[in-house]
Amino acid sequence: MIHYSCDRCKRVLDPEQELRYVVKLEIYAAMEPLECDEQEADRDHLTEIQEILERLEDGDDEAMADDIYQKRRYDLCAECYRQYIKNPIGREAPAHLGFSQN
Ligand SMILES: [Zn+2]
Repeated sequence: MIHYSCDRCKRVLDPEQELRYVVKLEIYAAMEPLECDEQEADRDHLTEIQEILERLEDGDDEAMADDIYQKRRYDLCAECYRQYIKNPIGREAPAHLGFSQN
């Protein structure tokens, strides 16, 4: 039997007792399609992207690959899901939830 644990609070989840939430993240650097007949000024930029892509294909720069494309999967318990979905991109808390003025 497969055991799941919450990736956020590390609690072991009992699939018969509670819901498990799966979060899948796919993150990639959005690059505009390359166009061959662009103006001269864009040449360097296009060459740069081309070089990055070539290095990715060579597979010799994993840190660079992480910057461009990442795929993650997380299991969350119901409580952590509720916390996560309130702020999925890790925004800073709004000011009124911060320090009290009293
Ligand atoms: Zn949890």
